Amino acid sequence: MLLRGKTAIITGAASPRGIGLATARRFAAEGARVAILDIDGPAAEDAARNLEPVNGQPHLGLACNVADKQACVKAVEAVIAKLGQIDILINNAGVTQPVKLLDITPGDWDRIQDVNLKGILFLSQAVIPHMQKRKSGSIACMSSVSAQRGGGIFGGPHYSAAKAGVLGLAKAMAREFGPDGIRVNCVTPGLIGTDITAGKLTDEMRAKILEGIPLGRLGEAADVAGIYTFLASDLSAYVTGAVIDVNGGMLIH
Ligand code: NAD
Repeated sequence: MLLRGKTAIITGAASPRGIGLATARRFAAEGARVAILDIDGPAAEDAARNLEPVNGQPHLGLACNVADKQACVKAVEAVIAKLGQIDILINNAGVTQPVKLLDITPGDWDRIQDVNLKGILFLSQAVIPHMQKRKSGSIACMSSVSAQRGGGIFGGPHYSAAKAGVLGLAKAMAREFGPDGIRVNCVTPGLIGTDITAGKLTDEMRAKILEGIPLGRLGEAADVAGIYTFLASDLSAYVTGAVIDVNGGMLIH
């Protein structure tokens, strides 16, 4: 088991077909205790209850809007009180919106930046002092192929900008906190079959996207969960500031 004895926070892990929940399942199978933090509190509690216990110990599900700094501080305090320590932080929560640049309203811009980018800052600020004291920690942050190719898959330009911001923020965190034994890395998935597209991905869009994927299929949540597991585990002990593509070859660069 790759994560035996470790404890992880995973954000945005309440959605049934989502990347976060697939990651929570994989982490539990690898021996980690998991705290699911999601804006949907009851769904987070349910998701945690349904995870396989580790050594008879349950997991934890909490309501937390990652875009609310105080909510992040409170949630991290609750996780430390209940689970004792935090070894791993998976900054996974995100929202998207398929709009063109000229249609982005100030409210759209704020909402997309707040959840995808500011949420990573706030939760990392809440967790890092605890990791610094323990001189150890692994943080993985969710970006997207959209950051690298300037969108054009599903999210709008404000989503690309937020996800590109994640790459800069994570690399800066890797540089600043490496001396404390804290690693920070990013994943950049291509199109993964989850509910984030909210039924707006048409068959025509899907077929067009598939034409550009050498591996010939869309990604599955488990494909990303595997990379998060690698980044969370000691297999990646000498990896920090890295960006790992999980896109079937959609963007070979
Ligand atoms: P999803 O919609 O299934 O999951 C997103 C989760 O984030 C949900 O559980 C939702 O309740 C939660 N969430 C939303 N706002 C939140 C907030 N303010 N605070 C806390 N939780 C919040 O989507 P998914 O596809 O599993 O997405 C997970 C991450 O992967 C997102 O950051 C997304 O941008 C990113 N991503 C997805 C794809 C894809 O194709 N599915 C590709 C690249 C990147």
